[in-house]
Amino acid sequence: KLDFHPSGRHFLQIPGPSPVPDRILRAMSLPTIDHRGPEFGALGLEVLRKIREVFKTQQPVVIYPASGTGAWEAALVNTLSPGDRVLMFETGHFATLWEKMARRLGLEPEFLSLQGYEGWRHGVQADMIERRLREDSGHTIKAVCVVHNETSTGVTSNIAAVRRAIDEARHPALLLVDTISGLACADYQHDGWGVDVTISGSQKGLMLPPGISFNAVSDKAVEASRRAQLPKSFWAWDEILELNKSGYWPYTPNTNLLYGLNEALDMLLEEGLEQVFARHQRWAAGVRAAVECWGLEVQCQDPSVYSPVLTGVVMPEGIDADAVRSLIYKRFDLSLGTGLGKAKGKMFRIGHLGDCNDLTLIATLGGCEAGLKLSGAKLQGSGVLAALDYFAAHPLAAAS
Ligand code: PLP
Repeated sequence: KLDFHPSGRHFLQIPGPSPVPDRILRAMSLPTIDHRGPEFGALGLEVLRKIREVFKTQQPVVIYPASGTGAWEAALVNTLSPGDRVLMFETGHFATLWEKMARRLGLEPEFLSLQGYEGWRHGVQADMIERRLREDSGHTIKAVCVVHNETSTGVTSNIAAVRRAIDEARHPALLLVDTISGLACADYQHDGWGVDVTISGSQKGLMLPPGISFNAVSDKAVEASRRAQLPKSFWAWDEILELNKSGYWPYTPNTNLLYGLNEALDMLLEEGLEQVFARHQRWAAGVRAAVECWGLEVQCQDPSVYSPVLTGVVMPEGIDADAVRSLIYKRFDLSLGTGLGKAKGKMFRIGHLGDCNDLTLIATLGGCEAGLKLSGAKLQGSGVLAALDYFAAHPLAAAS
């Protein structure tokens, strides 16, 4: 509960769900229509066409009325059979949850990792994947599954390098990639990087409420789905892809979220994807300038994979991240992301994705700075001023 009677706006700066722009809220407030009528079919075709641009694919994108976890499951059950070996990489909490799901579904995941909590400060190590695939001369590994933007740590892995590792090893495994929190914030190329199934969700870069999620598929993935033996019905691509050809679904889709998605796609494509990515990179650099000025560490230890979506702020010795977060919430009506799994208590996460601007982030950093000081952290300088200077010195070019 807040320490004061709320006034003004709440600052939702967790790394998803992200703030939903008014334009999208208004689009979603329209009356729900007949999901088998002509108006719906036109909407379906429009969103299915435009969403491909965001995944940078010419291939179909399946939309589920489910959270991201559902789309994770859909990717596995459509392409794999009981007992199949899958190679996964422990980038953080979300990679760990996906590995657990694979086991629960009756797959045999092999979980590559760097050691312990420190391992959660780096990205996917493509060389480790290549080495393991080279050893697998019998091709018993059927899929490589990696998280593009690990939301628990703020690390954005190099997916092109993972593709190269699979190709260098001349291995036929499918490549499955979770970009639930990366899509429409960080560059992502489903076709360009040769990904077989890309998984994403609505509540992050797409700026929608939670509730729809995606599988972008390749021909090879669709081919695999014809032979895959894990049970599937609701998640099965075949009927969905067939009905999607005319803009419909085999069940009742999430009509109002699709209105929102249509609006979100217009917003992103009007701005231009490259501009959207530049905006996120710049915010992330400003936030890192603040953390550095405080004299604290960011969670990610490898600058080549810093996330443009969120920044993990590691606490000084003796300070509990969740106590700081809770104080910041009560005193300043600002929500930050908690440390998850191995990072619990060690760090908090600042989301800088979607419908933000320089001043929302300055306010967010102000709340963090004040909360850290009130919690007894000895800060070396004002991160707020450092971020202001960074933003002033690096103006964002206007969209063309
Ligand atoms: N994967 C990643 C990288 C995520 O960030 C999340 C949610 O935050 C998930 C998977 C799970 O998605 P959901 O919570 O929408 O089911």
